[in-house]
Amino acid sequence: MLNKLSNDLKMIIYSYLNFKFICEFEKDRDLLEFIINIQNPSKSKETLFNNFILNKCYKCFEPLKENYIISLCYYCQYNINEDKVYSSFCTKCVELNKTRTVKVSNCKICDSLTVYIGIEPYS
Ligand SMILES: [Zn+2]
Ligand SMILES: [Zn+2]
Repeated sequence: MLNKLSNDLKMIIYSYLNFKFICEFEKDRDLLEFIINIQNPSKSKETLFNNFILNKCYKCFEPLKENYIISLCYYCQYNINEDKVYSSFCTKCVELNKTRTVKVSNCKICDSLTVYIGIEPYS
């Protein structure tokens, strides 16, 4: 139903929606990249597309498994429709101690201090 609308109309509707929700039904890559780019002009739209939509590591582009790590880096987060979208990494690019799922360390991308949080399937 939404697919029958013009991109202009979709953009207006999408500006009210959560980005993750939009990604569940909007399959037009150009349009999704446009939404990312217009709100985050200085950041890579391909990287976020790969990371957030195709579920690949932000750094090495390997597909993310059940366990992955998100980085709360203030400088590397994206802002889309008032939501913050954080980068996620595979467990090879960011290593966490097995017993601790939170770590403060330097960001793999920009080197600022960030907090990494381990995401596990049943946590
Ligand atoms: Zn990786
Ligand atoms: Zn960063």
